[in-house]
Amino acid sequence: MIGIIGAMEEELTELLRHTTNLTKTSLRHKTFYEGTIHNHNVVLALAGIGKVNAAITATLLFEHYDIDHLINIGVAGGQNGVTHKDIIIGTEILYHDVDVTKFDRYVHGQIPGQTPTFIADKDLVKLAEKAGKTEKLPVYLGKIASGDQFVYDKKPLKVINNQYPDILAIEMEAAAIAHVCSHYDKPFLVLRSISDVIEDYNQHVDFESFLSDAVKNVSKVLLDVIKSC
Ligand code: SAH
Repeated sequence: MIGIIGAMEEELTELLRHTTNLTKTSLRHKTFYEGTIHNHNVVLALAGIGKVNAAITATLLFEHYDIDHLINIGVAGGQNGVTHKDIIIGTEILYHDVDVTKFDRYVHGQIPGQTPTFIADKDLVKLAEKAGKTEKLPVYLGKIASGDQFVYDKKPLKVINNQYPDILAIEMEAAAIAHVCSHYDKPFLVLRSISDVIEDYNQHVDFESFLSDAVKNVSKVLLDVIKSC
């Protein structure tokens, strides 16, 4: 079964339109939609915003469903040249707000006992890249960083950007989901479309304006990935 996590309802709407045999369940105040997309059994989970909500929901998915791979879909803030509605396929996912570096044994973003970054499943990444080409959408492969902040200027990202100068998307859930996947030894994929560009004037207004179109783009890619799984 394919597990799909979105933080906000808007991020799942497009996929739900393509889901048949739909049933809705609630577990620990989180909503799960089971159904079929392109002949695959799927469960779509609505996590809520932020790392803890994402981790709770990913854990519930693994504990209650037979998940083969977990895919995180959603929107993100962009940096390093990406713009509204571009799609970022996360090759490496990391925390931008974790700092245990005082002990000299860890890099910024690394949680003790964990690798510095979480690596997405290479086959799923390839499928997503191919889907982007098929759909003729602007797709970029790169790093995605998560933290519990809506980032609207680069100051909070200064340290992580120095360490990894090629992070393309910033959001609030993916690293927590990747982290849970690493504990369950399950492959994961993160697909995000850019709703807002970091440091743009009125970024939160752009977020609202581009949310729907960004989700449409990234959903097209995910639907193609599911088809070819
Ligand atoms: N509008 C919502 C809050 C959205 S928070 C409300 O009123 O409740 C932003 C959400 O989109 C998070 O789920 C995050 O993953 C993603 N996101 C988009 N742009 C972001 C940015 N610039 N920084 C951090 N997260 C961002």
